[in-house]
Amino acid sequence: MKRIITADLVLPQRTVWGTLTVEGNRITSIEEKGPFRPGEDIVVPGFVDIHFHGVGPYGTLTEEDINGIASFEPSNGVTAFTPALGASPRDLRLEFLRSVRELVRSPRPGNALCAGSHLEGPWLEYEHRGGMGADMLALPTDEAVSEAIAEADGTLRLVTLAPELDNALHAIALLKKAGVTVSIGHSGASPEQFAKAVDAGLSHVCHLFDAYSPREVIEGVTRYCLADACLMEDRVTVELIVDGFHVPPELIKLACRLAGTKRIVAITDSMQGTGLPNDKYIQEDGTYYYLDNESVCRAVDGDHGIVGSCLTMKKAFFNLVRKWGFSLEEASRMTSLNPARVIGLDGCTGSLEAGKFADMNILAGEDLALKACLVRGETAFGA
Ligand SMILES: [Zn+2]
Repeated sequence: MKRIITADLVLPQRTVWGTLTVEGNRITSIEEKGPFRPGEDIVVPGFVDIHFHGVGPYGTLTEEDINGIASFEPSNGVTAFTPALGASPRDLRLEFLRSVRELVRSPRPGNALCAGSHLEGPWLEYEHRGGMGADMLALPTDEAVSEAIAEADGTLRLVTLAPELDNALHAIALLKKAGVTVSIGHSGASPEQFAKAVDAGLSHVCHLFDAYSPREVIEGVTRYCLADACLMEDRVTVELIVDGFHVPPELIKLACRLAGTKRIVAITDSMQGTGLPNDKYIQEDGTYYYLDNESVCRAVDGDHGIVGSCLTMKKAFFNLVRKWGFSLEEASRMTSLNPARVIGLDGCTGSLEAGKFADMNILAGEDLALKACLVRGETAFGA
């Protein structure tokens, strides 16, 4: 089947008025017909979320949940995703890896593509554990890392760890050899330890500015810190939760100016319940949180600290463009092409280019509302 869409097209380098042709599951041609026409429908590449823990009624643990996410996510403009699991006991971790593996192997037409798994832990550092359970943390032994690689059988895409832990540099090398992208996060590493990890193969940064130490001041002099080093290191891509709460908008702008939007990856880090009524929800570890779609998820007990977000990718795109003034191309890179690159999918999705899969969203020109989402040429949401 052939479909021709005439609209404003957000291409990698510029936005133009033109026509885009979809045949089967691919984009077969793009014809530029003139300059951007404000107010017309806008076609952007499908969004790629590489870091979240749940959305709508679904968590990320079971095959049923991940199947649910795959059918639900086109309503948020997401065409490919890697569900994340925080620090968890071994049996849950293995169950998660198996669930994702099964779904990767049996994609369903009209669903977003589950591209593999993201382990955010358990190989994290205690002081920077954030909302992770202290007794869930562990060291990245060769045995544990190899077990995860074997269980996923080629479907583990991303691992977030603290590179200052014992054996972490060796674990990074093992993961890299298995084709897994390794990310620093929940870490108290020094800039020097971070540089060694990058030399060992680490190439990504987990939610910058969240669970990072502030700059130290020694004898009145402000020191260079890990977050600074992440922004300065050209060999890594950098995640930001772009809800405006986890990272203040000014810091989002600062990070994009320093690292350039080619290295910034927008993520949601969303929790189960995102998009459902504001209410109390339960986490896999049995603790409760309040979810407020207009702000964040907060723990019910203790200090009511932030435990996650309820951001969606379509809102992330809106925030970047309409609230903080990024161009359509810049926002699109951060929500589609850059995350696709992190998980090795940029050769087949993440931008509007002839030959790539027809993964795209049609947005209303006025308010960027999602009108339709196509996954591999099939209408997965809207019309
Ligand atoms: Zn997370």
